[in-house]
Amino acid sequence: MEYLNFSEANCQNCYKCIRTCKVKAIKITDQQATIIPELCVGCGECFSICPQNAKSVKTDIDYVKELIKQNKKIIVSLAPSFPSFDNLKSPLSFISGLRELGFSEIEETSIGASLVSEKYKEEYYSEQQHIITSSCPTVNFLITKYYHEHVKYLSETLSPMMVHNKLIKNENEGVYTVFIGPCISKKEETRVCTSKNSCIDAVITFDDIRNWLKEENIDLNTLEPSKFDKESELLTKWYPLSGGVEKATINEPSKDRRVIKIDGMQNCKEFLESLDDIKGKTWIEMNACKSGCINGYGNSLSDLSLNNKIENVLNYIDNCKESEKSEKKCNVGIDFDYSIFVENKTKVYSDDEIREVLKRSGKYVKSDELNCGACGYNTCKEKAVAVLNNMAEIEMCLPYMRMINEEMSSVIIENTPNGIIVATKDFEIVEFNPASVDMFMISKKNAIGQHAKSVIGNNVFKKLENNSNHTIITKEAFNDISKIMIVSLKYIQNHDLYLAIFKDVTKEEMAKIRNKDTSINALEMAQKVIDKQMIVAHEIASLLGETTAETKVTLSKLKKLFDEKNE
Ligand code: SF4
Ligand code: SF4
Ligand code: SF4
Repeated sequence: MEYLNFSEANCQNCYKCIRTCKVKAIKITDQQATIIPELCVGCGECFSICPQNAKSVKTDIDYVKELIKQNKKIIVSLAPSFPSFDNLKSPLSFISGLRELGFSEIEETSIGASLVSEKYKEEYYSEQQHIITSSCPTVNFLITKYYHEHVKYLSETLSPMMVHNKLIKNENEGVYTVFIGPCISKKEETRVCTSKNSCIDAVITFDDIRNWLKEENIDLNTLEPSKFDKESELLTKWYPLSGGVEKATINEPSKDRRVIKIDGMQNCKEFLESLDDIKGKTWIEMNACKSGCINGYGNSLSDLSLNNKIENVLNYIDNCKESEKSEKKCNVGIDFDYSIFVENKTKVYSDDEIREVLKRSGKYVKSDELNCGACGYNTCKEKAVAVLNNMAEIEMCLPYMRMINEEMSSVIIENTPNGIIVATKDFEIVEFNPASVDMFMISKKNAIGQHAKSVIGNNVFKKLENNSNHTIITKEAFNDISKIMIVSLKYIQNHDLYLAIFKDVTKEEMAKIRNKDTSINALEMAQKVIDKQMIVAHEIASLLGETTAETKVTLSKLKKLFDEKNE
């Protein structure tokens, strides 16, 4: 889907989107999730699940605003799910809102559904074993890309949106058509199909409209309800509900064909995987969104519950009267040509190739394959294939990365010259590395479980008691072992433990003390020189006074320097 992707700044590599995507169309590169358009079927599920709200849906809204500004003749095709937009005093205020935004002619998309249902009906009574409705573009993409063997069952009928827009174009020369609805997949359907059928100029979602109304400060409840310029037949208003296509299409059920309703991506996938198990004749109404278009992801900003949306659509239908029967004679081609849809051919890898990748993730034997799903893939093998397809990175395996991390930490702890001691908040020692053993001259076995004071003498951990938010760095004397140490103290919140790192600076500190002694000696000598010179100066003051004074100043500076250094 060229219209959908994730915004770079927000992705936090949680892999929830990969876990959710039923066709694994999301690639991770350099820790950023990206949707691969050729693999995506436009269901929108990854967007709804992303905790960072990292979605980015290209919108035609600016193009539409420009058309309005240029006074172009536009006819809106409004999806029959529009009452699910909000709880309005009258759902028809939504139409008034569109007029306020600058749209002058608004028709109901389900006008196209009448012709679609006519064609579905013919297929229903045909001899074909299975017939799958083709009104949901995501289902069409799913079947053509991933279940190509079932394309033969897809109804060769354009969607109501495509048919309605073709009708509009056929009747109104030079007019621009804009579809407004709850579906993000319609954008892609338009992109793929329009080149061939040349019928839709822009697709905008209910979410786009919600933002636009907000920008313009339009409150729909303050507007008088307005009517459609052209309304659909009553039964076709059921289309956005699961089972609605059947209701609008089949009024005389056949004894030898079963009707099956499937909705939700997971159900669609599972159904298509086992479709060959069904022996009889079926007519399958299939929608990618749970409960149908009423739950489309292009209306994700709505606060309404699913039941509230369903109720609003049903109430709207109850209040509608049968409109004048539209002319059923089809004067536009409504056949769908699936040859324009491209099958996704999955590359098959040998066991050796897959095993090689598994080894690179630390999986040498079967029991190393945890199949935990943390990477977003169901199994370690599936993830290895994704790596081979350049869709995933080795580093996405969290247990492997944790193992590497732990091994690295363990190497550092075991080999550092610094003492590392970890204690509980009751000062009981729980970790005591080899350098600590040398420093405090006590074995690890004897240190673990003991109170810090009894092991290291000076219980430095106490300093963290009232100051656990910061790292404390302090110089401490450990008299029992005659050592001076720089100690870094840190409270580890996640584990509720105290950490102390000890750096032995005894040698450096002793050297400083020795330097200080040397300085004091030099100082005393300087003082003696001054005193001696002052005696001479006193005797021959008139002749040498100036020189002596200079010497005194110089030596006094030297003395001051020593003083400062030794402070
Ligand atoms: S769900 Fe996907 S896009 Fe969103 S933060 Fe997680 S990895 Fe990134
Ligand atoms: S829109 Fe659907 S198919 Fe496309 S990447 Fe997201 S979850 Fe996968
Ligand atoms: S069920 Fe409706 S809203 Fe959802 S993807 Fe299909 S056509 Fe679009």
